[in-house]
Amino acid sequence: MNTRYSHINRPTTSLIDQIYDSEAREELAILDLSNTDVITDDFEQDRHITYHLKAPTYKWLADRLCFAPGTEQCKTDYEQKILSLLMSIDPNMLITLQYIFFVTKEDDVYDVCQKVEADPSEFPETIDFDENDQLGCFWYQYSSIIINLTAIEQAVHEIADETEYQKEFEIGLMTTLTHEIRHLGLSNMFLYIGDYPPEEAEEEAVERWGLTAYENWKANYKGDK
Ligand SMILES: [Zn+2]
Repeated sequence: MNTRYSHINRPTTSLIDQIYDSEAREELAILDLSNTDVITDDFEQDRHITYHLKAPTYKWLADRLCFAPGTEQCKTDYEQKILSLLMSIDPNMLITLQYIFFVTKEDDVYDVCQKVEADPSEFPETIDFDENDQLGCFWYQYSSIIINLTAIEQAVHEIADETEYQKEFEIGLMTTLTHEIRHLGLSNMFLYIGDYPPEEAEEEAVERWGLTAYENWKANYKGDK
């Protein structure tokens, strides 16, 4: 059981108190506040950020997953594993998570953008459905993750034969997810710097963290919840 959540703002202040302090310094505005979430307008970065104040649950995480039309098989095969993996990682990495989108094609851009109320022109250029060379990305503006399943399939076909395909696909999917989650988690400006030094955000460190998170989960995974 990971208990670091309660230590997020060591040594003294809670997350909500830090957000109040930031508001008092006019660094952000609180737009909405409930027992579970604070929505802020981070005007310097021109972003609305929702901070989830509770430790993540399966239900909360399941509500974050968005499978585009045509990805039903992936949902059937991997949804429970993905939720189990996300429950196993440092929960501080999930505080600002909005959505994780699983997409395969250009047509999905419209639905994804509608969900976060973005203009389709804002969809990250790195996710390219012609090249399919980027497996996933952290969509900073909307605190979301986009996973391109077509790109993962293509990458796996290049390295694995039929017998290895399922195993390698799972590794590709899960490590893309943990890698991008790490980028998201470390973008939270309220993380205690003593626990999350800036070098943790370097690409190599992010990649290493993602692999380790997957391997630790895999070693303990006992089957569907
Ligand atoms: Zn990266």
